[in-house]
Amino acid sequence: MEATRALDVRNVSFGYNSWLLLKDISFAVAAGELVAVIGPNGSGKTTLLKIMLGLLSPNSGVVTLHGQPIAALEPKARAQAIAYVSQQPAASFPLTVRELVALGRYPHGLRGSETAADRVAIADALKKTAATELCDRQFNTLSGGERQKVLIARALAQSAKILLLDEPTLHLDLNFQLQILSTLKRLCVDEGIAVVTVLHDINLVSLFADKALLLSGGELRGFGPVAEVINEASIKELLDVEMKQIAGHESQPRYFVPRHPFS
Ligand code: ADP
Repeated sequence: MEATRALDVRNVSFGYNSWLLLKDISFAVAAGELVAVIGPNGSGKTTLLKIMLGLLSPNSGVVTLHGQPIAALEPKARAQAIAYVSQQPAASFPLTVRELVALGRYPHGLRGSETAADRVAIADALKKTAATELCDRQFNTLSGGERQKVLIARALAQSAKILLLDEPTLHLDLNFQLQILSTLKRLCVDEGIAVVTVLHDINLVSLFADKALLLSGGELRGFGPVAEVINEASIKELLDVEMKQIAGHESQPRYFVPRHPFS
């Protein structure tokens, strides 16, 4: 099992000041898994992603990427191993879509002229996110959904085997949400990429994620296969919302609807 771990978070604790925000968090993500991080606002989801990326150092505990402690990796090696799509930046990049996606090649040495490998990786990333036709557009003229696809394409151009995303479906209509999550799922299934993404919609988690990580009050409240971890009781405890589970057929995902939406 050890060898299949793409990302391992072991006994991680962290605080921005003397108050501990994250307490003794441990979990592992295997190649090809899609893990959804769920928790109330302010529970530390973004902070946890930043620790997994090595942008923040834990007070204690260790994060390893393919068996190597992230703290021991040079920035370039780190960026070749793990890519990040943050919540959409407010400021727009004054670049074309292709120029922006090409930035993902910097960890592979791209500074001036592109190599054949750079061109293949950029074209491939645009294709996988169905963004090829946007290639010559200015990024700052795109819609929210189009921007999200392009930001994911930039992360894919990095050719990292671990991809972290912070609420990639935020502000997107349902069609774009499904497009983005289908793209992520394909990356897991077809290419063995490990994906960890913050998601708020329990039903999208049920549809797309292999595992769920429940975070609240600085503690890991659950981690495991979605069918085992997500249920009416765990949602109530995590999000303080009473949901009713609607059972699908055996092979179909379950759905949850609020019991008292107007109360
Ligand atoms: P989530 O992503 O679950 O909404 P965050 O990880 O963004 O939560 O934030 C968790 C808590 O840490 C919040 O209370 C937030 O205000 C605080 N926080 C986030 N970043 C900083 C920072 N740079 N300095 C101090 N506190 C921070």
